[in-house]
Amino acid sequence: MSKDDVQKSGSIFVFSDELAGFDFGENHYFKPERATKTYELCNRYGVINHPWMKILRPKSIDRSLLTLFHEKEYIEILEKASHGEVSLEILERGIGTIDNPIIQGIFEWSLKVAGGTHKTLRHLLDGDALVAFNPLGGFHHARRGHAEGFCYINDIAIAVKAALQKSPDMKLAYIDIDAHHGNGVQEAFYHDPRVFFISIHETGKTLYPWSGSEVEIGEGDGKGFTVNIPLESGSDDEVYSFAFDNTIPPLIESFSPYVIIAELGADTLISDPLTHLKLTNNGYMRAVKKIIELCPRILALGGGGYDLYRTARCWTLAWSALNRLEPIDEFAGLVGGMMFGPEMEVGSLYDHPYLNKGEDKEKAMLEAQRVVEYIRKKIFPIHGI
Ligand SMILES: [Zn+2]
Repeated sequence: MSKDDVQKSGSIFVFSDELAGFDFGENHYFKPERATKTYELCNRYGVINHPWMKILRPKSIDRSLLTLFHEKEYIEILEKASHGEVSLEILERGIGTIDNPIIQGIFEWSLKVAGGTHKTLRHLLDGDALVAFNPLGGFHHARRGHAEGFCYINDIAIAVKAALQKSPDMKLAYIDIDAHHGNGVQEAFYHDPRVFFISIHETGKTLYPWSGSEVEIGEGDGKGFTVNIPLESGSDDEVYSFAFDNTIPPLIESFSPYVIIAELGADTLISDPLTHLKLTNNGYMRAVKKIIELCPRILALGGGGYDLYRTARCWTLAWSALNRLEPIDEFAGLVGGMMFGPEMEVGSLYDHPYLNKGEDKEKAMLEAQRVVEYIRKKIFPIHGI
């Protein structure tokens, strides 16, 4: 696919001031305003508001679609909690914890976010656009019957299930490069060979949700269609690229999906306060660009990223790559007040190159080699490679 193809078919950026302004609480790590920062940075770098781009303002998802993934009882309890009704079941459902506090209006907010992801995937499947990005979406930890990991409603699982309901023979791939294992999405498609689930993440030995071992490969008809690539905390751009290149492209090329849904969480960065991987956005973008090469139709979703400004830089670069644009700082050279965020250099959006020289690097590489070996031995043959 070329720049011409994208310009001819169109792209969609999902954004709403109202949704980006929603507050999870002052001390909560999850900041929807990352979407605003991304939009602003895209503006500054001249990569938004081109004629082939459409801004989609999300509307609430049809409630009947929620139960394509979630339990009906969970939805009812979440709605009540969101309206201030206290019940005994709330905590059992993961609502009212530090990670998933009871927030007034979280139900309606989640409905709109899920509506954005669902509608955008629909547009891609209907041929209204070729690529899209919903920086507000990507709630990959929400489970069938409970909330966890800052996620209440699983917009991804619902959108994919809805797409399959309409086109039961379609093949979709889900590639999750967030630092955390995409456990909620894995749960949704563990037995389903129509959805190729791949998650590359920090190992569950050191990070929530403590799952995503390479031995989780799907079950029944879905065996071999779930791939997990856990990485040690010492992994840098080099280790990451090694693990990515030797597993994901050959698997996706052989599966040949109609569309890729990509969860582009930016919490793999060395600066992220919640995780322990040591990537720069050079390694991150290398992976994003490889994903984009694997399929003409891509729906990108935000997900994690708790270093606010660096997450916005990653997502601006990702949106640029989706549109085959090179971001250029339109304000470069102007003096005063143009810095983007604390300690951010003006000019390039890319981080300075960095490779981990610590003792943990060698261990991380050996472990990555072992995991790659396991996947190539156990999963590749299932797909005839
Ligand atoms: Zn994450």
